[in-house]
Amino acid sequence: MNLIFLGAPGAGKGTQAEFVREKLAIPAVSTGNMLREAVKNKTAAGLAAKEYMDRGDLVPDEIVVGILKDRIAESDAANGFILDGFPRNVRQAETLEEMGVNVDLAIEIHVSDERICARMSGRRVCEKCGASYHTVYKPPKTEGKCDACGGDAVIRDDDKPETVLSRLKTYHEKTAPLKDFYSKRGKLKIVEGQEAVDDTKRLTFEAIGC
Ligand code: ADP
Ligand code: ZN
Repeated sequence: MNLIFLGAPGAGKGTQAEFVREKLAIPAVSTGNMLREAVKNKTAAGLAAKEYMDRGDLVPDEIVVGILKDRIAESDAANGFILDGFPRNVRQAETLEEMGVNVDLAIEIHVSDERICARMSGRRVCEKCGASYHTVYKPPKTEGKCDACGGDAVIRDDDKPETVLSRLKTYHEKTAPLKDFYSKRGKLKIVEGQEAVDDTKRLTFEAIGC
């Protein structure tokens, strides 16, 4: 089973992708997390990607596609995977098709722009493992610390308010057209993002039928 999560920045794709990963035992692949890791490790891809990410722009396709191809070629992805943050534009979706990847379902987690802006200020991410938290909706057990690995849960560089607005604009211009792309192929399901993570989880599992 190959799944795609669509949705605005902060809609909760990463959180839902984690739930589905646990349930279906297939890896969740987040291009955002992989890019942040590359930036942290100052790899060639990371150095090239950083300026785009800091502005809230999409990183050039060549860089992201390279990272994604390597990841889904790994053995744990042989029985399927969940893509969180890829594809991010129509060209990337076409590339996925050209790679021979059959998408079973694209799930859009829908949240209004107003609610996105309100949510983003509370978002925290583990510096070490990339797990995501929210000060109100999904607080870690110990404030500022990751439940999974004990790392520091911090505000992401690109979660500053100016950058959030820029990322929302990028989302509407470049990524939202993917709803049409997958809808035309009969692959789109929309999940209305709820305030409580568990409610969204239930709706997401329902959409997948798992
Ligand atoms: P968001 O919370 O905006 O969904 P992500 O963690 O998915 O954040 O991505 C963070 C940043 O990484 C994006 O703003 C973008 O610059 C870059 N990025 C992630 N995935 C892609 C992709 N598929 N194509 C281009 N850029 C990407
Ligand atoms: Zn962690």
